Amino acid sequence: MSVFKKIIDREIPADIVFEDELCLAFRDINPQAPAHILVIPKKEIVSLIDLTDEDEQIVGRCVLVATKIAAKEGLSAGYRLIVNCGDDGGQEVPHLHFHLMGGRKLTWPPG
Ligand code: IMP
Repeated sequence: MSVFKKIIDREIPADIVFEDELCLAFRDINPQAPAHILVIPKKEIVSLIDLTDEDEQIVGRCVLVATKIAAKEGLSAGYRLIVNCGDDGGQEVPHLHFHLMGGRKLTWPPG
């Protein structure tokens, strides 16, 4: 079971900022920006590679939730929404997650 499933099930603590029936959002334990929040589907989807057509609503909700959190966090100057996918994409936790990062000038390209 991934660490994020344990957060969904409240088996380990997290700084949760949003929850609905499809998504959960919480602060990253090792923030790389003043605001660094992870938005995840409650459904156990490992990565973007595993998405199917039936996940369309879930993914759409996660992205919309991220935009609402960004507004609530005051990220009016902009932000980044990132998904690391698989080994080459640098994904460490095998549960789909959207990194919402902002609050500083982010550089491009990422490493
Ligand atoms: P990935 O490299 O895209 O898989 O990102 C995983 C992210 O999860 C990293 O930014 C970690 O800091 C974060 N993370 C790992 N474990 C926890 C946790 O227990 N709570 C909050 N964030 C976590």
